[in-house]
Amino acid sequence: MTDFPEKSALEPDDWAAFRQRAHETLDRALDRLEQAGTGSVWSPVPKDVESQLEQALVAAPLEADACDAALASLLPYGVGNTHPRFLGWVHGSGTPFGLLPAMIEASLNANCGGRDHVGLKVERALTAWVAEQFGFPQTASGLVVTGTSMATVVALKVARDAALGFASRETGVDGSKLVAYTSAEAHACNARALDILGLGTSALRKIAVNGAFRMDLSALKSAIDRDRAAGLVPFAVIGTAGTVNTGAIDDLGGLAVIAEQEKLWFHVDGAFAASGILSDEVAPKLRGIERAHSIAFDFHKWLHVNYDAGFVLVRDEDLHRRTFSTRPEYLKAAERGLAAGNPWPVEFGPELSRGFRALKVWAHIAEFGPQRLGAAISENCQLVRTLAALVDDAPSLERLAPVETSICCFRYRADGLTESELDALNEEIVVRLQETGVAAPSTTKVNGKLAIRVNITNHRTREADLHVLLGAIDDLAPEALAQFRHT
Ligand SMILES: *Cc1c(COP(=O)(O)O)cnc(C)c1O
Repeated sequence: MTDFPEKSALEPDDWAAFRQRAHETLDRALDRLEQAGTGSVWSPVPKDVESQLEQALVAAPLEADACDAALASLLPYGVGNTHPRFLGWVHGSGTPFGLLPAMIEASLNANCGGRDHVGLKVERALTAWVAEQFGFPQTASGLVVTGTSMATVVALKVARDAALGFASRETGVDGSKLVAYTSAEAHACNARALDILGLGTSALRKIAVNGAFRMDLSALKSAIDRDRAAGLVPFAVIGTAGTVNTGAIDDLGGLAVIAEQEKLWFHVDGAFAASGILSDEVAPKLRGIERAHSIAFDFHKWLHVNYDAGFVLVRDEDLHRRTFSTRPEYLKAAERGLAAGNPWPVEFGPELSRGFRALKVWAHIAEFGPQRLGAAISENCQLVRTLAALVDDAPSLERLAPVETSICCFRYRADGLTESELDALNEEIVVRLQETGVAAPSTTKVNGKLAIRVNITNHRTREADLHVLLGAIDDLAPEALAQFRHT
């Protein structure tokens, strides 16, 4: 074939010119991160930036300069979680060092579903490290996944299939009568997992919490008894290490005892606070986590690995593998060659093709070490306590929940307002904080009251940022009150 192109059209024509472009893009990314603490926390995406997104696809291919400029134009319009005053929901803040493994990962373009290559070795080394941190045996299995939502699906599928003797893999779960337990404060991903696993969200019992927002253990025992008496089949109890509303940590030791007595799978949703195992301050509150059958948690939250990176750790590798393993002919294991490297990650989760997420996690731990990562967590806890003290001292503010880890819930008070007016006022204050770009807390309801919810899983936040936040609330509240009194 004489007219077959000599070179791939998807390779640079001129490597020196491409190298220049790559360096410039890297510089733009670094500029952005060096300036992480400046400007608005959040800015809505301007219309022209948004319309350019469609135009670029219509006009493609773009010139190199236009392509690079279009990419760089997106940099100011993220969620805002790289800013020190991003204080909403539970987001990690990433680090500039995340750029380094991202480049290596992109150059390797590894598919980590299986086969014998360095991607699997990194993930195995990481799994052993995670098992050790949580006091699990070195035989435990694990998988890097997108986040805790996916980790929960994987873990609860192991629990489900183990409870049904793995017959469910072939025959499904129709009529299984399986039920599981978690607290009323648990994250919605647990109910979603039961939905995805065919058990239905109503199979998840929401057990009441005590005054510290921890699962009430005697209510749990009664619920289990009631369900058994009704002919249902309890199979799992899900503890939370760090609830999204208030940051509470269930009595994991107490849950482990009940799970053992009742022969239930003990799973821990430790999305953000399980990372506290590295912090002297949080680790004692996690006691009992070492007795779990499985743990789901995130590296992208309180450990600040760039999105996305979660992890599922399963104590019993055999049960984990029997839940997912199927090796058709074209994926057959081999003793030697590229098809060796067993077991493959595809035997521990639903995905075959999967990227090399483990690399950035491994590089992050190698860069900082567990002590520095744990110290950053302890620092955040200290800041949240400082905030709680400032709130308690401010006559216009009222704290709505105890502080256990990274979250402080409070509200602005004004005389003569009903509860529902106070809710509307605090909602308005939070929206104004976000829209002005000064700070970005979020809201939640605590005991029925709308709270300004500040969560500090942010290594960039300093004490001065808390004063900026509270000052802005004081400044904004009268306007918010005025507007809302007119409406
Ligand atoms: C964030 C969170 C989840 C969901 O994790 P993703 O990584 O977003 O999928 C589950 N549980 C808790 C307690 C969380 O904070």
